[in-house]
Amino acid sequence: MNVEMHPSRWGDPARARALPDEARGLVEMVFGTDDRPAVQAPPLAPPSIGPAVLAELEKAVGADHVRTDDEARRLRTRGKSTPDLLRARSGDLADAPDAVVRPGSHDEVAAVLAIAVEHHLAVVPFGGGTSVTGGLVARREGFSGVLSLDLVRMKRLVRVDHVSMTAVLEPGLRGPEAEALLAAEGVTLGHYPQSWEYASIGGFAATRSSGQSSSGYGRFDALVVGLTVATPRGRIDLGSAPASAAGPDLRQLFLGSEGTFGVITAVTVRVRRLPEVKVYEGWRWPSFAAGALAMRTLAQSGLQPTVLRLSDEAESAINLADPAAIGGDASAGCLMIAGYEGDPAAVEARRAAVTAVLAGLGGTGVGTEPGERWAHGRFDAPYLRDSMLDAGVLVETLETATFWSDVERLYAEVKAALTAALGDPSLVLCHISHVYETGCSLYFTVAAREADDPLAQWAKAKAAASDAMIAAGATITHHHAVGTDHKPWFAREIGPLGVSVLRAVKADLDPTGILNPGVLIP
Ligand SMILES: Cc1cc2nc3c(=O)[nH]c(=O)nc-3n(C[C@H](O)[C@H](O)[C@H](O)COP(=O)(O)OP(=O)(O)OC[C@H]3O[C@@H](n4cnc5c(N)ncnc54)[C@H](O)[C@@H]3O)c2cc1C
Repeated sequence: MNVEMHPSRWGDPARARALPDEARGLVEMVFGTDDRPAVQAPPLAPPSIGPAVLAELEKAVGADHVRTDDEARRLRTRGKSTPDLLRARSGDLADAPDAVVRPGSHDEVAAVLAIAVEHHLAVVPFGGGTSVTGGLVARREGFSGVLSLDLVRMKRLVRVDHVSMTAVLEPGLRGPEAEALLAAEGVTLGHYPQSWEYASIGGFAATRSSGQSSSGYGRFDALVVGLTVATPRGRIDLGSAPASAAGPDLRQLFLGSEGTFGVITAVTVRVRRLPEVKVYEGWRWPSFAAGALAMRTLAQSGLQPTVLRLSDEAESAINLADPAAIGGDASAGCLMIAGYEGDPAAVEARRAAVTAVLAGLGGTGVGTEPGERWAHGRFDAPYLRDSMLDAGVLVETLETATFWSDVERLYAEVKAALTAALGDPSLVLCHISHVYETGCSLYFTVAAREADDPLAQWAKAKAAASDAMIAAGATITHHHAVGTDHKPWFAREIGPLGVSVLRAVKADLDPTGILNPGVLIP
């Protein structure tokens, strides 16, 4: 797999595809189309870091691993949110780093941080570059330059403990690379976010990522047993036992810290035995509320399948993961996918128990075909977003989470805010894909005819949705993290004292503020 993504599109350019004719016809009918060719990116301004400092960096990591060429810098400019793509498509590379530095070990990371402190360079840890919240857009003002600290060389499976069922992974491993190394040991991590093909182990930890199989395997932060972090003040190793009462859990300070407190250089994760069987099947519900009630019943009975997701009526009708399926029947209710992974006996037992609950609550089993189709297309939607953007249709996603008692209200209020802000013609789709005993996440996908200024159009819709989330007492993000985009709402979510605690930790670990300035901390 090519781990370098296209600078203004998702993923492997070879997998890009135009909208199929039937989908394009429908998109034209709903939105009208207006092909938007990408602008040829202009050459970048020369890097602001001088030869003497570059020579120090080369000494620290090797001359081959310090790059200042346009291509390297362009490929590490921002992440992959729709605004990021729109800016890249318009040739705006204002956030490009001055240099890309690729350390090969914890000690090399520490050496780069020391140089950055000495010369007051901003440092942006770069894992897979799939951030959708501006997590890679550090503030440049006040710094003598910006370094992208690309962890791509740190790709080792350091060790597997088959007795304790843990593994130590380096941060630069992409999802498929980590799973391939673990599979050779007969184990799996089971973390499959939609960005899995490109996102990295360090990025998963730094953003508290959640994968599509979170019901069965757990969120990434729940899989982390230990962390090693390089900070400007030195090294910290955390997680010396499966559980501990030794004070507050400092691992939680670094999980979700988005490169602002330190650079994660190793992650110890719990692993499971490779599943022998994987079964994904579909269930039909008369309404989103009926399906959500079934999810809550399962979660509160301790009966979760490995994968459990439910699309609302609109998303069930317009299956974004499968362009060929666009234009389904909205009156057909809501589609749930339930997936089971494990050894055959455990899968059968759990499937039978879940089936009894779902059937008892009025669900209709529709067989494995929808489940297999979902599993097959689960990583394709980002390519479809590119095709829609090509056709002048703005597509973006956002997500939140709340307690069960507030789910219905949150769903209605965020949907209303998005619909009002985007106007006609627009579509607002939603699914639940991460379920807990106490609540769940809501994941919205929107599509709208691109306005003349699509960045302003999206900023308005995003602000309206974010205001609705905070007003409803929900979180600003269940798994996309804070980055720069969510900061104002994050500050409202945690309050002034929460902000003050984060600033104090930052001031202690990173006294000169070089690590991802402007990201996360309000
Ligand atoms: C199409 C698409 C689908 C997505 N689907 C999901 C999903 O299903 N679930 C989900 O959780 N997220 C999803 N995301 C969001 C994104 O993939 C996650 O936030 C992911 O965890 C980021 O990993 P990354 O390696 O790409 O990190 P990057 O984008 O490279 O970095 C993210 C942040 O973490 C910091 N960082 C990266 N590595 C380190 C490190 N080693 N140490 C310290 N800081 C570091 C960066 O500086 C940045 O602030 C999706 C994104 C896209 C574009």
